[in-house]
Amino acid sequence: AGVPPDAGVPPDRPPIAAAAPQPTAARPGRSLVRREAPRAFPSTPLVTPLYQSAVYVAESPDALDAAYEGRAPAPVYAREGHPNAQVLATKIDWLEGLERDAGEGGIITSSGMGAIAAAALAVLSEGDHVLGATQLYGRTTRMLRRDLPRLGFPVTVADPTDAAAIAAAIRPETRLIVVETVSNPTLRVADIPGIIAAAREAGALVMVDNTFTTPRAFRPFEWGADIVVHSVTKLLAGHSDATLGYVAARDPELRADIEDAAITWGLTPSPFDCWLAERGLHSFALRYDRVCENAAELADHLADLPQVEQVLYPGRADHPDHALAQRLFGGQWGNIVTFRLGIGRPRANRFVRGAGGLAFAPTLGDIATTLSHPVSSSHRSMPRTERVEQGITEGTFRLSVGIEDIELLKEELERAIAAALDD
Ligand code: PLP
Repeated sequence: AGVPPDAGVPPDRPPIAAAAPQPTAARPGRSLVRREAPRAFPSTPLVTPLYQSAVYVAESPDALDAAYEGRAPAPVYAREGHPNAQVLATKIDWLEGLERDAGEGGIITSSGMGAIAAAALAVLSEGDHVLGATQLYGRTTRMLRRDLPRLGFPVTVADPTDAAAIAAAIRPETRLIVVETVSNPTLRVADIPGIIAAAREAGALVMVDNTFTTPRAFRPFEWGADIVVHSVTKLLAGHSDATLGYVAARDPELRADIEDAAITWGLTPSPFDCWLAERGLHSFALRYDRVCENAAELADHLADLPQVEQVLYPGRADHPDHALAQRLFGGQWGNIVTFRLGIGRPRANRFVRGAGGLAFAPTLGDIATTLSHPVSSSHRSMPRTERVEQGITEGTFRLSVGIEDIELLKEELERAIAAALDD
């Protein structure tokens, strides 16, 4: 500070700016704004390259025809498909047990909601009725209760844990049934086999949102689902740095219709998010096994604490759907644990502040544990009476358990409970 910029420069030397290189005349035939193909190497990158390009250069009109007609598939325009989305979709197909070569498979969308929207826009036509589950992610509920009716599709809802209730709610014009494997935040398990049997009889399609359970615990196609969706943002990508969805169908025609809808309505993803998610997916199996183990232990620990009124975890014998979860999930109960303290909003605020190490964030599936409060986030637009019916109170918290040391998690929660309840 205080040193003049020309300090130490003898007065007879030219000022520094005058020594800067002068622009040289452009060489004919060269332009900085034109793309140069990188030099070809005999080696290939180990990591999937990031294809950030919005568009691809074709060699001729014949080559474009061949790309669009599928004779020589090649990316043309990123909204219509790009290598990073393709690689990611293929890997999630493997997890869901789909054979891409047989025309089955999924596409990546710009978010989980994009996946649900693409499926709805692909399958619904005038006169179709949609049957939804009573307990769905908030935005899905909003799409079903507000947006689809506004577009002319009547929507009704029924209890997904009761296949007879679903069967009774199916109408002759029901085209699509929308369920989540496990509901948020009460972790009720949908009777997927019963719902699929009822839908088959009526000729309706069943779309299963498998975000909470993941294909490591449950593969809906193996039980006869028609469409499977994921918020890839959550456990599959696992690091809260990419917002993406996945939607798949076994029937090649249905799959093609969904892909067309996603492209037409602009629901397709960014290459960089796909690149990040592919990297996250590499550790998915290891992360998932660890978080399930942590969650099961934490659920039991919380249930033993006298201040905790209720713990909801499908792996516990006291969960209302434990037997069904056992049948469907093969011993992987997921990473979400919901619990209730007998407290109102002021103490709920104290609990969250006391749990300083656990990020208070309305998401799930991050590598680290996150804490959410359904009344002020996911369920804020649900009428209070409905919330109370489902047992969701100011003292209800949802943990998305991460891979941390389990003893650390137990300590942090005990400290937060003490902060909320001690006067
Ligand atoms: N489905 C479920 C079960 C979710 O929890 C969420 C988001 O929380 C979504 C879908 C929507 O996913 P996204 O946020 O990626 O649009």
